[in-house]
Order: sequence, then structure tokens, then C-alpha cells
Amino acid sequence: MKNYDVIVIGAGPGGMTGALYASRANLSVLMLDRGIYGGQMNNTAAVENYPGFKSVLGPDLAKDMYEGATQFGAEFAYGSVEAIEDHGDHKVVKTDDGDYAAKAVIIGTGSEYKKLGVPGEDKFGGRGVSYCAVCDGAFFKNREVAVVGGGDSAVEESLYLAGLASKVTVFVRRDQLRAQKILQDRAFANDKIEFVWNTNVTEILGDDMKVTGVAIKNNQTGETGEKAVSGVFIYVGNLPMTDAFKDLGITDDAGWIKTDEHMRTAVAGIFAIGDVRQKDLRQITTAVGDGGIAGQQAFNYIEDLKAAAAK
Ligand code: NAP
Repeated sequence: MKNYDVIVIGAGPGGMTGALYASRANLSVLMLDRGIYGGQMNNTAAVENYPGFKSVLGPDLAKDMYEGATQFGAEFAYGSVEAIEDHGDHKVVKTDDGDYAAKAVIIGTGSEYKKLGVPGEDKFGGRGVSYCAVCDGAFFKNREVAVVGGGDSAVEESLYLAGLASKVTVFVRRDQLRAQKILQDRAFANDKIEFVWNTNVTEILGDDMKVTGVAIKNNQTGETGEKAVSGVFIYVGNLPMTDAFKDLGITDDAGWIKTDEHMRTAVAGIFAIGDVRQKDLRQITTAVGDGGIAGQQAFNYIEDLKAAAAK
């Protein structure tokens, strides 16, 4: 079994920063990810709230971070993590592609999109139902699309889609948005975007091949109807990716990992960073801050292990 000082699970902005700090402190570091490095940055068109850049493409920022993260020797390997075994002074990280050992582990697995849970959503997945405007928006050039949700993702991606689609109708279940005001203002000023308030999408409609529309219901009046669209983009929130860690007793009831301000979980030597943490503000900036703290704390933890072993 290959042995490292630190294993970072998830190579998003937090994980890459954790790997940078730990490897720059001369620790041996492995970053594990089940896909390409970058995490959700790869699904983000313009990032406008990362210091140092007025605006940067998410995948470009991911590539720059990866080059920075690996410059001091941190390695990267593909692997889907299935469990972490805690053996006190070392941990075993079990993946679908073999096991690795490390003195400390940093979890930065992030979150994944939540499904709307209505009929037609699974049936038309990849055939008009999408969770990624940057990935799939180009298929709907000059066509009408629907967006479901009212948070930052729904509004930001509606703005992106408005650059491609002929019209974007956003179905919001309340009479107001949860998104940041600057995004709201931009969307309200965009004449290709229409908001439909107090309305639930109750079914995704389609023919044998693809999406043709959505069934809707006003949750104040009870009025039902249909809206013809070619694509439906769903942004109704996120779920933590913590299934592999549920036996460690480090999550809250909803599955987010609880840490202290040093990114320490309830298990000594296991740290958590970024979107997977129980926190208020899930951003690239906050993930990067978490990663720096965890990289440094992993170093301190390993120094303490060495000091204890030398006694
Ligand atoms: P979110 O903030 O949790 O918002 C989810 C939205 O979906 C809310 O408007 C919610 O309505 C609605 N919703 C939930 N379940 C629904 C259902 N069953 N039917 C209809 N609508 C439903 O999720 P998010 O927008 O994906 O953002 C996730 C995190 O990433 C947030 O912390 C966000 O700030 C961050 N983020 C930041 C940026 C940025 O800074 N540029 C961009 C993207 C995401 P209610 O309001 O009624 O609950």
C-alpha cells in the first residue's frame, strides 16, 4: 500500500489549496479525485468573485490552481473513495482502485446537485433535463428553456443561458429570490429572462425523444398549466458528498461535515474543507481559505505525532 503524509480527497479549490500548503511544508501529498481536478469550477462560466481576477473562466482558474498545487511535489490520482479507516496514527483510504495510507486526511469532496424529484426528471436526463448550463446550454441556442430555483446558481445560470436561448423562464417556488442582489438586479434587467413566482414545476413533459415542456402549478391559487420549452435546467440546491464517511460520526443530521475553526473533525487527523463542511458561505474563496488552514493544521498534527512517538 502506498504511504503518504497527507491524502486530500477531492481536488476542488479547497483540496488543491490544502495540497499546496501541505506539500510546500515538505510533506508527501496525494490528491484523489474521481474526475478531473477543479470540481464545480469546471461547470462555472465566469467567476467574478475570486480576488486577483476581474473575471476568469472556471476551467482556466482550475488549471492554474492545479499547476500551483502540484509545483511542490503533490501527486494526483483518480479514485472514488469508498471509506476511511481510522487507525489512530494512520488512516487507510479505501478507493475503487486500491487502498492508500496516510498520517492525515483532508476531505474536500464538495456537494452535488439536488434533484427536483418530479415525474419525467430521470426519464429526460440528458434529453433536455440538465443541471449544468455551461455543459449543455449550447444545445438550446435560440430555443426556449426553463430554469427551476431561486438561488445564486439558478440566477447565475439563467444569465448565462440568456446569452444562448431565445427566452429563459425561471420558475420560483416563493415570491422572492434567495440569490445575491447583484445577480438579481442583472437578471431583472435582462429582457430575455422572465420570472414566474409562487410556482412549482410538477412534471417534465416530453415526447418519445426529448423534453417538450413543463407542467406547473401556482402554489397560492392552485392554478395549473403548461409551458412549452426545449430544455429544463434544475438548480434547487446541493447535497453533501459524504456517503463514504458516514461511519466516522463526523457529519450533522443532513450529512454536512462538522469542523472547528482549524478544520478539525471529530476524528483526530481527519480534516474537512470547502462545500462539504457545515457552513454558511459556499464559495471558491471560502474553500481556498479552508484548504490553507487544513494544510497547515495537517502539518502541525503530523509534527505532534512525531513528537509523541519520540517520547
Ligand atoms: P441554494 O442557495 O440552496 O438555493 C436553492 C434554491 O432552490 C432556492 O431558491 C430554493 O427555494 C429553491 N428550491 C429548493 N428546493 C426546491 C424545490 N423542490 N422546488 C423549487 N425550488 C426549490 O442553492 P444554489 O443556488 O445551488 O447555491 C448553493 C451554494 O453555492 C450557495 O451557498 C450559493 O451562495 C453558492 N453559489 C454561489 C455563487 C456565486 O457566488 N456566484 C454561484 C452559485 C452558487 P427557497 O429560497 O424557497 O428555499
